[in-house]
Amino acid sequence: MIVVENLHKHFGSFRAVDGASLKIEKGSITGLIGPNGAGKSTLFNVIAGVYKPTSGRVIMDGEDITGLPPHELFHKGLLRTFQIAHEFSSLTVRENLMMVPAGQSGESLWNTWFHRRRIRQEEEALRAKADEVLEFLTIAHLADEKAGNLSGGQKKLLELGRTMMVDAKVVFLDEVGAGVNRTLLNTIGDAIVRLNRERGYTFCVIEHDMDFIGRLCDPVIVMAEGKVLAEGHPDEIMKNEAVIEAYLGR
Ligand code: ADP
Ligand code: MG
Repeated sequence: MIVVENLHKHFGSFRAVDGASLKIEKGSITGLIGPNGAGKSTLFNVIAGVYKPTSGRVIMDGEDITGLPPHELFHKGLLRTFQIAHEFSSLTVRENLMMVPAGQSGESLWNTWFHRRRIRQEEEALRAKADEVLEFLTIAHLADEKAGNLSGGQKKLLELGRTMMVDAKVVFLDEVGAGVNRTLLNTIGDAIVRLNRERGYTFCVIEHDMDFIGRLCDPVIVMAEGKVLAEGHPDEIMKNEAVIEAYLGR
């Protein structure tokens, strides 16, 4: 689904991503691990159009998507989750979901004036969709809660929920488990697996929690110093000498 070819992202003379090549197979939950500073988040940001690469290519379903801006990638179904922005924290959980889909009639003043009825219908459909998403994520009881009042883990579920408001194909998750308790981490893990199996989402997941990676991901790609060091089943990866050395430092 995604092919990354010899990707570089340099900041001045520093090579954050230094010739990384990898594939994310359609239908997979691919793990991306590596020591701090390995270049994982930078790689995500280049794939998701936040940064332009210094060189190299990103291909999605055979199409060169290198350097496309995030909103164009969004329309192609490539999504990267972002933390709930400050300005959305005073909106309810349901409202946060209803904000996501682009191109609503309500966005234009002309339409607001002439098509009140259609807007109301669209809003009702959006609301129903948001409630369905909240049900799926087992947080229906939080629909009317202000997003700012959610726990870290609940916010992560809401981030995942936002990808379900559109027709996502491939979703990039950067450290969904950071600061999340075990119970919620399992709920997030279950939601990822169900989205993968029931809705055909492909995932690429950066995560430090190796239990989480081992349970969810196949294959796992290991990055170190801007390069791909190893790739394979999580069990093999944990035994790989080069991987162990990268983690322990030299
Ligand atoms: P990881 O997510 O694997 O921990 P990052 O991709 O965040 O690693 O960072 C890789 C390296 O690139 C780090 O040394 C970091 O300091 C550096 N880096 C990341 N973003 C920038 C930036 N915008 N400007 C300069 N250096 C950066
Ligand atoms: Mg990172």
